[in-house]
This record gives sequence, C-alpha cells and structure tokens, in this order.
Amino acid sequence: MSDLDKLFEAARAVREKAYAPYSNFLVGAALRTPDGSVFTGCNVENASYPVSVCAEGGAVGAMVAAGYRDIAEAVVIGDAALCTPCGMCRQRLKEFGTDDLIVHVADLNGIRRSFTMDELLPAAFELDYKSNNRKD
Ligand SMILES: [Zn+2]
Repeated sequence: MSDLDKLFEAARAVREKAYAPYSNFLVGAALRTPDGSVFTGCNVENASYPVSVCAEGGAVGAMVAAGYRDIAEAVVIGDAALCTPCGMCRQRLKEFGTDDLIVHVADLNGIRRSFTMDELLPAAFELDYKSNNRKD
C-alpha cells in the first residue's frame, strides 16, 4: 500500500467517526508530515452551527498538539462529487503547508482530484512567519 493509499484509508476511517447529526455530511481529513507521521480529524457539528469544527481543523489541531508544523500531503474525503476544503480550511492548511503541499480530494471510492495549495488558495493571506519567527 502506497503512502497515499494509507493517507486515503486514514481519512476514510476517521470520516466514520464524524459527529454530523445536523447535516449528515461526514467528512474526514488526514495529513502527512514530511517525516511520514499521519494525523486525522473529522467534522464535529454543534447545535449552535458556527461552533462546528471542520475535519481539517481537527487534523491540524492534532498535528500541532503533537509538535509538528509542516503538512506535506493531505486527503479530504466526503460523500460528494468534489468535497474540497472550505475557505477557512484552505487558510488553515496554507498556514502549515510545505511548498509542495498537495491536497487530494476524495469520495468514498478513492481520490477524485488533486490540487496544489496555490490552486486552492491563490494569492493567499500569509505573514512571513515561517521564515522570520519560526521556532522548530
Ligand atoms: Zn472547513
């Protein structure tokens, strides 16, 4: 099984744990760091809708909590034709994306399309935090 296949399977597995009683739209995300570590997240909805957290947000939180700061590859999976990350999550991924970050968008059967971060979020807002203030 390739690294991408493993990332897809991790995203598909965590999607099953999503808490989405309001939308019934389950989403999973899996992130791979440059050293091969994988972190996952699923969407967690709330009766107060804006309190909900996207799958990507959960995965980024888990990655950062484990001490990592770089995403090399990501898979986002939903039961839709093209479950691309929402605008906020594009910004979340950009914050920690390596220059080579590829975001794969999948449905339950497999990867449907792959995007560079620049394709998902051209002319992104970013401070030059990584090169100036980063503590690794
Ligand atoms: Zn989102």
